[in-house]
Parts: sequence; C-alpha cells; structure tokens
Amino acid sequence: MSQLLLGCIADDFTGATDLASTLVSGGMRTLLVIGIPQGPLPADIDAVVIALKSRTIASEAAVSQSLQALQWLRGAQCRQFFFKYCSTFDSTPQGNIGPVADALAQALGVSFVVACPAFPENQRTLFQGHLFVGDVLLSESGMRNHPLTPMTDANLVRVLQQQTGRAVGLVAHGVVRQGADAISARLQSLQAQGFGYAIVDAIEDEHLHAIGTALAHHPLITGGSGVARGLPGNFRRAGLLGEAQAASVLPVLEGFGAVVSGSCSLATNGQVEHWRKERPSFAIDPLQLANGQDLVRAALEWAQGLLAAGPVLIYASAAADSVNRAQQALGVEAAGQLVEEALSAIAVGLYNLGVRKLVVAGGETSGAVVKALGIKALRIGTTIDPGVPWTLGLRDDPLALALKSGNFGSVDFFEKALACAP
Ligand code: ADP
Repeated sequence: MSQLLLGCIADDFTGATDLASTLVSGGMRTLLVIGIPQGPLPADIDAVVIALKSRTIASEAAVSQSLQALQWLRGAQCRQFFFKYCSTFDSTPQGNIGPVADALAQALGVSFVVACPAFPENQRTLFQGHLFVGDVLLSESGMRNHPLTPMTDANLVRVLQQQTGRAVGLVAHGVVRQGADAISARLQSLQAQGFGYAIVDAIEDEHLHAIGTALAHHPLITGGSGVARGLPGNFRRAGLLGEAQAASVLPVLEGFGAVVSGSCSLATNGQVEHWRKERPSFAIDPLQLANGQDLVRAALEWAQGLLAAGPVLIYASAAADSVNRAQQALGVEAAGQLVEEALSAIAVGLYNLGVRKLVVAGGETSGAVVKALGIKALRIGTTIDPGVPWTLGLRDDPLALALKSGNFGSVDFFEKALACAP
C-alpha cells in the first residue's frame, strides 16, 4: 500500500462523512472506513477517515477504540493524524474529547496539541476561547439541552481543562488574524510554557486556512472538519499531493437506480411527495409488517418489473400522525427496528436485482442498509447537496450510495442525486 498523507479518527459517522467530504473538496482522495479497518485498502488513496461511534460511550472504551484506530493508521504510515469531533465540542465533563486526545498524543509521543472545532461557514465561531453557534453562545444554544452531551459552558478552555490533566491555553483572535506565522509563534510559546493544549480562535474561513498552514508539522491535530480545510494545501506545497479535480471522481457504474427511504423528517417527507408525483413508488407500512405481511417480497416483485424503465422509490416515510399510530401499536423501538430490517432487506434485494446507484434517506436507515450490504468502506465522491456526497461502497461488485440523514437536501434531492450518480 502506498503511503497515506492523513489518517483521521472521527467520533461519529456523520462527522466522518463531513470531514471526508472536506478533504475531497481540498483534492485528497479519501476513503471512509466504518470501524477499525480490516484487510488491505485500495492504493489510490491520500486520506483515510475511520468512523467510530465513540462520542458518548464510556471514555475507557472510546480511548481503547481510538488507540486501535491509531495503531492501524500508523501501520499505514500516515504522515499526520487528525482526531475529529463535533463543531459544537459535544462532550460530557468526563470526555470523551480530552481522554481520547490525551491518549492519542501519548501514543504518538506528542506533548502539545491544538483543539479547534470552529467552522465559521456553518455558524460555529470561536472568539476569545468562547464558542458561538450563530449569534448566541454555545451555552445558550439548543446544545444546552442536548440529551447526551448538554453543553452548558461556552468557554472551551475551561471545558477542555475539565477533561484533561494537561494545561489548556488559548491562541486568541488577536494573534490568529495576523496569520500563520504569528499563530506558529504563539503555539511554540505556549508549548515552551508547558501547556499541553491550545484552543485556537477562528471567526472567518481564512482563519482556518491560516491555522491549517501553521499546523503543517504538527503530528496530531484535533478539531472539527473546518480546520482540516487548510491541510490539503500543506501537502500540496510539500509536493505530496496532485491537483484538486480528480479527487472526487468515482468510477462509472453500470446498473439500475433506486431510492430507499426510512426517514420521517419534514425534508424527507417533502422529497418523497415530490418523487411520487411523477415516478413509481411503493409504500411500506409498519403495521402490515407487524401483521406478518411479506412486504419485502412484494416490494421487490414490484420493483423487478420497473427498474429497467427507470429508478423506483420504496419508502416507509410517513407523516407524524401515522408514525405515532405505528409507534403506539408496536412501541417506538420495535416499530423502528421492524422498518429498518425490512428496508435493509429490500436494499439487499435491489442490489441483487442489479441496482448499483442507491439513495438512502435516514441516518439510522443508512446505517442498517450499509451493514446489511456488508459495506465497511466508502470512497467519497462529489457533493450532491451540502453534507451529502455520492460514495462508492466497496465490495467485490461495488455500488454507489448516497446516504442522506433526516433534514438534508432540497425537495428534488432524490431526482437530483440519481441524475448525477457515478
Ligand atoms: P432521520 O435521519 O430522519 O432521523 P432515521 O432513519 O435515522 O431518519 O430514523 C427514522 C426511524 O424511523 C427509523 O428507525 C425508521 O425505521 C423509523 N420509521 C420509518 N418509517 C416509520 C413509520 N412509518 N412508522 C414508524 N417508524 C418509522
């Protein structure tokens, strides 16, 4: 295997996709791997993002999984490592950002690490160490009521300090706006003073690029995907990375197109309605599934006759009242499970019928479909709508997947995605 430039560990799947898309836009050919990689990887890759599910698990487990991921990335001889967490610094007082970053730094023999979750384009700005979501402090945003990681303090120096024994310093806006050299000098001075971390301010996109440039020789970086924007440029300047255009190109696939939708968000329901006006669709009703009706078989028999003429939609998506009815009759979890199982069996059936361009709507639904298809790694391609790229699901006979969670995408997302499928 050729040498990888950047090895990343992300604490959840959507964060991993976001980071991978950022790297692809910067011209790095990027592979997203679900869980610790097993077996060899394709040779034509510049960056790997390992997607863990470690944001809210016990911190010992998060540390141990992250170290396993690091070990694999070191085996692949990455030049630089990146620990990706959410741009709202989602964590509890126990972690897992501090404990995981501590463990990765220790394993790499690194005494000083930057922490920068800022992403101005997505309304996450950092000023004097305080994180803003839009025009309010993190602690006044909806994140203060998050069920798993309530963020009640916007001062990230203090938040990170609670999670680590290493001293946390700040590179404030006054330094950041002077550019990469000033940032480097301040980082060196903090390190010399014995700090182990630096929170770095950024209120504009250009600050992220300056920070990225200043981090060219840092073995380990932690942050949101914003700060990763500056990294491809470092590799390009060092002559290690070619030009940008080719990174998002996926191989052209022969095969039918289809959409499987298990999201009941407003955006998805609108997309389903839009599709149904002019294109073939098949509804899956959880109450019928619970009554033992073989809707998987019925849906696949229906699809078989239509696929050659154009893409089809199979959906369980429904309006809130009908979802409530199913949930009351079956239980929230059981209803979800039943639908996820049916839709993933349908996705496998569609693949067996020759579908090679598959749009999946719903975060949990996507997870279930990817698992049922036995896909462990995705090569990231062009962005369809913000946050949703086409990907190539690697298996003996690969297929293109667009995995869209809940509220993403314009009303014609399904049609648009299939029109630009690889
Ligand atoms: P989103 O990204 O919009 O949150 P998910 O796929 O993550 O979508 O979650 C939607 C959940 O709702 C899944 O568990 C899915 O199986 C379930 N579901 C889908 N359709 C129905 C329905 N008609 N009734 C009840 N639950 C449903």
